[in-house]
Amino acid sequence: LLEIQGLRKDYGTTTVLNDINLTIHKGEVVVILGPSGCGKSTLLRCLNGLEAIQGGEIRFAGKNLTGKNVHWQEYRQKIGMVFQNYDLFPHMSVIENILLGPLQVQKRPKKEVLEQAQQLLERVGLLNRKDAYPRELSGGQKQRIAIVRALCMNPEIMLFDEVTAALDPEMVREVLDVILGLAKQGMTMVIVTHEMGFAQAVADRIVFIDAGNICEIAKPAEFFSKPKSERAQQFLNIFQ
Ligand code: ATP
Ligand code: MG
Repeated sequence: LLEIQGLRKDYGTTTVLNDINLTIHKGEVVVILGPSGCGKSTLLRCLNGLEAIQGGEIRFAGKNLTGKNVHWQEYRQKIGMVFQNYDLFPHMSVIENILLGPLQVQKRPKKEVLEQAQQLLERVGLLNRKDAYPRELSGGQKQRIAIVRALCMNPEIMLFDEVTAALDPEMVREVLDVILGLAKQGMTMVIVTHEMGFAQAVADRIVFIDAGNICEIAKPAEFFSKPKSERAQQFLNIFQ
């Protein structure tokens, strides 16, 4: 579904991602691990067209996203993204936040979108908060709403960048459970996380990045029991 070939990203004279090669198949869950500053967020941002890249190619469903005249607007609807800091619009209620994209960008009929939004809210246990404002919600609730908002665009793939990193521990679980539910339903996902138990549970493959390079791609059972690279071993030791 998403093919990354020889991707290079520089900030000024510093190369932050170097020759990244990775194919994400439909229905697959790929978890990206690596030390702080290794380039995980940058990679996700490149996949969503938020960063210009200096080399290589990104293909989505066979279409090259790296040429000129690429309509990122269109692809961002298919490639949903949720960040660490819930970016809900503060002056809009939950339901208004969710409906905005489907109505304004996708121009879908309100009745249909509203029904879908309510179903999704129900699924994350927040239908009763649909008229609340973001300031009235907990961090975990806001993050679940941010996920619903992305899902309501009917994306074909979801990118998650440390969506629980800013949450109090008791709220982490409720957000991770939503993502686990999506995995069960076969959603294609690329997930950056520091929650190792979750990574092991949700991933079909683990991609370990160090200093802008993919060091290792492995099944979670292999990666967590016997990582091939010394860097990955050192990284895992921190969590033990
Ligand atoms: P973390 O686990 O802390 O979130 P990360 O793996 O997501 O780290 P990135 O945010 O992708 O790391 O950053 C990769 C490198 O690129 C870092 O060295 C960072 O300082 C640098 N970097 C990120 N954004 C910019 C920017 N806008 N301008 C210049 N350098 C940047
Ligand atoms: Mg990051």
